[in-house]
Amino acid sequence: MTILSVENVSKIYQSGARKLTVLDGVNLAVEAGDSIAIVGPSGSGKTTLLGLCAGLDSASSGSVKLNGHHLELLSEDQRAAVRSQEIGFIFQNFQLLPTLTALENVMVPLELKKRKDAKEKAMELLEEVGLGDRSTHYPTQLSGGEQQRVSIARAFANEPKILFADEPTGNLDTETGEMIEDLIFNLNKASGTTLILVTHDAELAAKTNRIIHIKGGKIQENQHA
Ligand code: ADP
Repeated sequence: MTILSVENVSKIYQSGARKLTVLDGVNLAVEAGDSIAIVGPSGSGKTTLLGLCAGLDSASSGSVKLNGHHLELLSEDQRAAVRSQEIGFIFQNFQLLPTLTALENVMVPLELKKRKDAKEKAMELLEEVGLGDRSTHYPTQLSGGEQQRVSIARAFANEPKILFADEPTGNLDTETGEMIEDLIFNLNKASGTTLILVTHDAELAAKTNRIIHIKGGKIQENQHA
């Protein structure tokens, strides 16, 4: 089953009179359960493509169908609902809410879904990423690796059909990065969550089933494992 389908997508950023075509007629189909790395030079549009696939931004033209939703036909609110209910997102800089504890950060998506057991479920998720003893800590009281584990617990809270990750280990040392990679790939293997990640790291990319290279606004090459 195709869970993500990108058809003839272009993205043009306009600042004043200048137009920058970042993506130029991109096509991509992703099967449910697959793991994919998007690689390419800095500035080649990897983050832009990931954001369009996840409904964080909209394409200038073309269509993106995510888990049955035609994103270009949805309002911003409808896209936000798809994001909060059906996908998970992990960022290089973690993006935890600084005024909330680790536990409260993980509770956010559960409370959006009005789950009565939000607190218990969030605690379970923190324990799964090995942070049961850090639940009352604020993001500034946690190391980078711990913050990323909280953000993974938050992403898993949605029981996402797709997990998007933008340079998830980019700010971490090798050992901590490997722990994060294990958590992400275990989710992909254990529950069949589709994984789409952007990375500069060739070793991380090689752990996925499929590598997509972007250059000059186009997908240059598809490599299947
Ligand atoms: P990558 O992830 O491959 O490094 P990005 O998708 O972040 O590339 O950016 C691609 C290009 O688009 C870059 O030249 C960047 O400066 C530009 N860009 C990204 N976001 C915006 C924006 N919101 N407005 C204008 N230009 C942007």
